[in-house]
Amino acid sequence: MPSKPIIPRVCLRCGSQFLGRATEINRGGAIYCNRECLYAAQRGQARKTLTTYHLFLNMLHGIPDGDACLIWPFARHRQGYGETQHDGKVWLVHRLAWETVNGPIPDDLDILHHCDNPPCFRPSHLFPGNQLDNVHDMISKGRGGKLTDDKVREIRQRFQNGETYSQLLPDYPVSRANLWAIINRKTWKHV
Ligand SMILES: [Zn+2]
Ligand SMILES: [Zn+2]
Repeated sequence: MPSKPIIPRVCLRCGSQFLGRATEINRGGAIYCNRECLYAAQRGQARKTLTTYHLFLNMLHGIPDGDACLIWPFARHRQGYGETQHDGKVWLVHRLAWETVNGPIPDDLDILHHCDNPPCFRPSHLFPGNQLDNVHDMISKGRGGKLTDDKVREIRQRFQNGETYSQLLPDYPVSRANLWAIINRKTWKHV
């Protein structure tokens, strides 16, 4: 019998943490920590001091399986990013999500989207990088998807067979510097 996954939640009334069953969360439940909070919320006594930050945590801790984008349902920054308040600060939601999962964002790095969907904050769709990485990431997508183990093997094989960088570059989602690193096994060493 499959066990029921238990997922950390944040009570939308009192803000305390509790555990909810995945089955309940998928039905839209496990929103309040106990009956008292549930009834109080039903009577319209949800504390107004609770912000969308708590809902953010609930969404982040209750991400459904699969690979769909997790879209922020509230305020948007003018560039389309989700926005929320936390700790007296306005946060871009994707940055907050990355920090919540991975810890502080390194200085001078941006949090970028693999999915190119600004309001998405699914942590697996986010990666830290600079604007140059962002440009490379976009160029890569334009050139037919992500690099895979198979493509890396193919690149090295074609290079051994005598093809040049200029012949290889148009076929793969890599920059010239990346191509050099792949061929010289500075990256993708496991392949
Ligand atoms: Zn509560
Ligand atoms: Zn996404």
